[in-house]
Amino acid sequence: MRLLIVPFLITATLVACAAPSTTRITYDTAELDAEQTIQRELALKKYLGYKQRLHNVSYPILKAASQFCANKQIYSLGAQGSASSDFVDSWKSTAKKIFAGDELTVTWVAKNGPADKAGLLVNDKVIAFNNIEFGDNVSQHNRFYAEINHSQTANTPLAKLRIKREQNIIDLNVTQEKICGYPAVLGESDAVNAYADGERIIITKGMMRFATDDQDLALVIAHELGHNLMGHIDKKQTNTMFGTLLDLAAAANGVDTQGIFSSAGAGAFSQDFEAEADYVALYYMNAAGLPLEGVADFWRDMAAEHPGSIGSSHSASHPATSERFLAISKTIDEINHKIAQSLPLRPNLKN
Ligand SMILES: [Zn+2]
Repeated sequence: MRLLIVPFLITATLVACAAPSTTRITYDTAELDAEQTIQRELALKKYLGYKQRLHNVSYPILKAASQFCANKQIYSLGAQGSASSDFVDSWKSTAKKIFAGDELTVTWVAKNGPADKAGLLVNDKVIAFNNIEFGDNVSQHNRFYAEINHSQTANTPLAKLRIKREQNIIDLNVTQEKICGYPAVLGESDAVNAYADGERIIITKGMMRFATDDQDLALVIAHELGHNLMGHIDKKQTNTMFGTLLDLAAAANGVDTQGIFSSAGAGAFSQDFEAEADYVALYYMNAAGLPLEGVADFWRDMAAEHPGSIGSSHSASHPATSERFLAISKTIDEINHKIAQSLPLRPNLKN
């Protein structure tokens, strides 16, 4: 019994000591509301800034890699818009303020993409798309958004936008381009991470901050595109499933593996997939006309930030940073050799 009482007394004492000894600054609800409004506006502006950069960097890669993803090509405007009605209630007023109203507002335009070439600008108000008006009720919005989605797989690349800029109404004809249909999206997490889910490329805000150089961000995007394009997501699930079956078989024989086969199965294949995603990423970057010189330095920067990742580890799901630096450097040599010899610039496949 004493053993239970002693920890309780220690906890009670700690709680008693933990109270602040200075007076707390007070503010009224109106002041707090005003400050929350300011901070939400700053957050939304920052978010839109991240998205603009993400699409400036991802667009040319998705376009250049379309030659490698014949089954997954879509037409793209290279731009997107949003309206206050798209936001959850607590953010609607912020969006309305930033977008200066409830109209559909262009939130990003990929540099040198089709919409950019046609003259579309961020903050333009989109009144109609292929003659369907955005309007002011949900059913009109749904039709409008459905038409934009439909245009991705339509037979013609042409898209008609009617926009409002200041008080001028302008008609723009946008010739959409074929890109790989794996859009890059911004993940809310602050962790330095990126992943692919078989449909999209997700880049966290933490990664956007780590990869301050656009070449680094391009490498990350191209790597995740590689996971999607090479079908790793399906293959990994198959491998993990196989590992689980081994676990179940061992359990039936009275051996508790603590799930070791599942993780070993996923891990063993995952290392190869990581290496393959790095390898094909450089071909996508090269196809996009991006410089490869110095791109391997990303892994030296990552090693400096995470020293534990320098040494090789067979249990880790990712190759060590030292291995990745070398593999990327040698892939660049391979690509440069092919350029010098005028050979096809495609990843080497196993026989
Ligand atoms: Zn990966």
